[in-house]
Amino acid sequence: MPGVDFEEAPAVRDVAVDLMNKHHPHLVDAKDLIGFYFRYGSSDWAGKAKKCTAFERHMTGKQLFVFVNAEAWQALKHDQRAALVDHELCHFSRKSERHYDDEQQRWADAWAPADDADSWGLREHDVEEFSDVIKRHGLWEQGIEQFAQAVRNASYQADLFEDYPAKSVG
Ligand SMILES: [Zn+2]
Repeated sequence: MPGVDFEEAPAVRDVAVDLMNKHHPHLVDAKDLIGFYFRYGSSDWAGKAKKCTAFERHMTGKQLFVFVNAEAWQALKHDQRAALVDHELCHFSRKSERHYDDEQQRWADAWAPADDADSWGLREHDVEEFSDVIKRHGLWEQGIEQFAQAVRNASYQADLFEDYPAKSVG
């Protein structure tokens, strides 16, 4: 049985940075706190978002991980890659904190500290695909059918984005 391996994925990070700047304001100051990795070896998902465990934070200095199936990535066109990464980024939620802004003389919300694990959470899908992702990329999963053999043990789209009960979501 072929082994499973991981590798840092700067190509995924590049796509993600662009998306964060455009669509994910709560992640902009946390770019360096998200680890992006290719996963080699078969899996029944194309991408996965994960909140780090305490040990993973200790080992990597990251708060959040995005994993992408390396074979799926190779099979995807640029637009589909962007949709996949956008989808995973949509899973990350961040608390905000209310504070009194002395200058403006009013209460204002600010993102909770990026380096505090308690600031971060995982968001479930709002629809079968995140509505934001559909707005930005269309119903991109249709393109995914072409690399379905790479993820064949999934009974398909529903499983590609199946959320796992653990602290990671597809
Ligand atoms: Zn998902």
